[in-house]
Order: sequence, then C-alpha cells, then structure tokens
Amino acid sequence: MFKLKQYLSTALVLLSVSISAQDDIVIKEIVKEANENSQLERLGQELMDGIGPRLVGTPQMKQAHDWAVNTYAEWGISAHNESYGTWRGWERGITHIDMISPRVQSLKGTQLAWSPSTSKKGVTAEVVVLPMVNDSVEFAKWLPAVKGKLVMVSKLEMTGRPDYNWEEFATEESFEKMKAARDAADEAWRANMENTGYTSRTIHEALENAGAAGIISSYWSKGFGVSKIFSARTKNIPTVDLEMEDYSLVYRLAKRGEQPKLTIVAQSKELGEVPTFNTIAEIKGSEKPEEYVILSAHFDSWDGGTGATDNGTGTLVMMEAMRILKKVYPNPKRTILVGHWGSEEQGLNGSRAFVEDHPEIIDNVQAVFNQDNGTGRVVRISGQGFLHAYDYIGRWLSEVPEDIRKHIETNFPGTPARGGSDYASFVAAGAPAFGLSSLSWSYWNYTWHTNRDTYDKIVFDDVRNNAILTAILAYMASEDPEKTSREKSVLPVSERTGEQMEWPEKREPTRRGGF
Ligand SMILES: [Zn+2]
Repeated sequence: MFKLKQYLSTALVLLSVSISAQDDIVIKEIVKEANENSQLERLGQELMDGIGPRLVGTPQMKQAHDWAVNTYAEWGISAHNESYGTWRGWERGITHIDMISPRVQSLKGTQLAWSPSTSKKGVTAEVVVLPMVNDSVEFAKWLPAVKGKLVMVSKLEMTGRPDYNWEEFATEESFEKMKAARDAADEAWRANMENTGYTSRTIHEALENAGAAGIISSYWSKGFGVSKIFSARTKNIPTVDLEMEDYSLVYRLAKRGEQPKLTIVAQSKELGEVPTFNTIAEIKGSEKPEEYVILSAHFDSWDGGTGATDNGTGTLVMMEAMRILKKVYPNPKRTILVGHWGSEEQGLNGSRAFVEDHPEIIDNVQAVFNQDNGTGRVVRISGQGFLHAYDYIGRWLSEVPEDIRKHIETNFPGTPARGGSDYASFVAAGAPAFGLSSLSWSYWNYTWHTNRDTYDKIVFDDVRNNAILTAILAYMASEDPEKTSREKSVLPVSERTGEQMEWPEKREPTRRGGF
C-alpha cells in the first residue's frame, strides 16, 4: 500500500512538469467515469418513461424541473428552479378515437397540445372533407355544412411510403410518375386553400365559428407511422391528429360518400396561469468564480412522444457531464453552470429570459456549450462568427480523445445563429456560445417533434460520447489561462439580400404565453 502510494506521488510529480500530461489525468478520469459508471440509462428512464413529455405549462414540466433539482442534490451539486414568467397551464388526458361507421375500427391519433377537451363520453359525428372551390364566396356558401361535423383539414397523402423506400424499390419511371402526381396534387391543394380565403392556419377558427364539432388534422413527417404533433388552434372544440394511414382511410371513405362517423374522446384539463422555470445548477469556481462555463440544453419538449431526442438526450448529456465533473473535477477554476431551459419550443423563452435577467453572468461567460439536435454523436462545431473561436475551441478540442474528436468537423469563424436553439440567445448577447451539433439518426423525419420521439430511439453509445466531449470541453474552458475573446468577425454579404449581414439582435422572451 505504502509503496503504491509513493509510486503514485512520484508519478504525479513527474507528470506535473507537463501541463497536458496533467490534463490527461482529469481527462482520463472523465472518460473512465463516463464509461464505467454511466447514469445515462437510469436518467433516461426516469425522465422519459417516468415523467414523460415536458410541454411548457404542464404538471409534467414542473415535475421534471423538481426531479432535476433533486437529482443534482443527490450528486452534491446545488441547483434551483428559477421562475421567469407564466404560461397557459394544461394537462393532457386520454385520447381515444374510433371509427364507428361504415365499420368499426380503432384509430391511431392524439389530441393536439392545448386542445380543448371533449366530455367523458366524447363527440360522435360524421366526417366531412374540405370541398374544392373556385373562390371564397363559394367556400362561404359551403361553410354552414360543417355544423355538427368533424372536419378533416389536411391534404390526402399520395403515398404512405417514405421517398427512400420508393428510391430503393420503385422503377425509376414509377418513382418519377408518383413525384409528378404528388407535386400536382400538392399544388392543387395549395391553390384550393387560397381559394377558400383562408390559410391552413386560419381555417381552423373559421370552421369552429361555423359550428364544427371538431377538427381532424394529420401532419405526416414522411416516415413510416410518424406524425408531428404541435398545438391546437381551436378555442372550444377538440383538435386531434390522426396518423397518416388512418387519416387517409377516413378521408378516402368520406370522398367516396361512405359518410364515415367517428367517436373522439379527447380529455384534457385547463389549469389556468402557471409559472415557468429554468433549472439552474452550478459547481462554484475556486479561482475565478465570477467567470462562467455554461452547459446548456432545453428541458421542455412537444408532447406527441416523450421528447427523448428533443431534447431528452441533450438534457442527459449536460446532467451526466455535470455529475462527472463534480466527481473528478470538484474545484473548477471558473464556475461551471448548467441551464435546463424552459419553453425553448415556443421561441427560446427560458434562455432569452436568463440572458436578460443575468447580465453579470453573460458579461463573464467563458463559453456556452449547447446540445439540441438529437441522440447522435457530435459531428459539427461552428465558431458562430467569433473571430478567435478557432484558437480556443481548437485548443480545447485538441485534448479530446481521438476516437471522439475524429468525427467532429469544425467551421471557423462561421456565422452567428439567429435561432434554432438556445445558444442563439447567448450569441445575440455577444457571449461565445456554441452548438454541439449531432449526426442525424433520421431526426427530422422520425423523431423531431413526433409521436415516435421515445426512449427506444436513444443511442446511448453516442450520448455517452457526447457527455465525455462536453465534460472535457467544460474542463478545458474552465482551466484555460486566458479569457476567451468575444471579438466578432466581419460578416459576409448575404447572397439573398446583397447586403452585409449584421450580428443578430437580442430578442425578448415571451414571459406570459399560450393564452
Ligand atoms: Zn429542441
């Protein structure tokens, strides 16, 4: 025992002559802890399976904030929920949709977020589809026909097969023919919507005012079985999304004059005006506590699935990185703070509020690392227009193990983000903030804001990879002898406008929303 100790302290003395070798000890510990004691699966199950989706204003969102504070407390990290505003409170209940005529079939679909509730018995009514009209007068004449009916407001898809499936199996001629027919049908649908005098957004209100019993939409995400689930636009009648296959079935029956009838039970609760939060946790800096390395990931989600890849995985990365840092690097030089932002999905509201409420932190940001585009390993980092980002990001990345770094393409100085995720809130304030951008894993078609964004889509090896990367970047940014430069590069001339691009401006958060 004694011998081993002596050997170790000699080794440490030898290593400390070289800074990078000393770095290596912490970095090796980060990698070891991430690989041998990973908490990702446990956290993923508690958050996605246990708590579920995290729509702003729902009790589940609040439950998630409390869970994060408690989890940090377990790890000895101080955390709190910071209220920054209010939102329309709402809670999803049971959705059950059945076709009862011309034959019985249970349908796959769900109420849209913030949709008004049906009674327990639900609504039973005939279905109608939007007619083809020549102008708004003709549409206005038809409109009373929706009284007491369920109205289908989305177009009929030409095919339920994703294009990649056609590409693999169709003959070239048949694929081309389908695409041409689809383009023509889409154009006809668009032109007809224009003829009604409404848009696909405003028509909901018109139908509701004309006495419709409910709205049925379908937002196919162009993958097998995938719907994007956003919010309802109705004030008193329910709006549900039917999955593409079932929507198409009912639509075809209605078109053929079979007068399909559905029963929709879509229960939910209005909860009035409720507070919104960011969860903030930090490990205080020992030498420069007033300077901040910020880990960033929005905490909220849409609620068609359980928000596993948007942004459960970004959340897990930041929590796991914090846990590891607290264990192997408990006395950072600078303060390491993590922000789990609320209401990103409605316009970066949580992070914009944080930026507005904490100028003293924003002025002293060493770096912000944000993750928010799925479960994949990080493959891109842009300098976001900061002229010297190459120096420091390059310096920090050089300490990341080769098997992680080799996947990452960098782009310097890059251009500043104007939205998309929370790092844009910090970039707009001139604070060096960067997105850790993931490989897709079919994010756009299969999981982003869809009913298929669930735990089973998480690729834990990639998420582990990202937690290691984030912890090392935070460690390097914290230890860096230099404060990072905020000097902005001269932005290029926009190809679209022909004018020189300007740095994005800070935008105000919505502090009271959803009403
Ligand atoms: Zn997101």
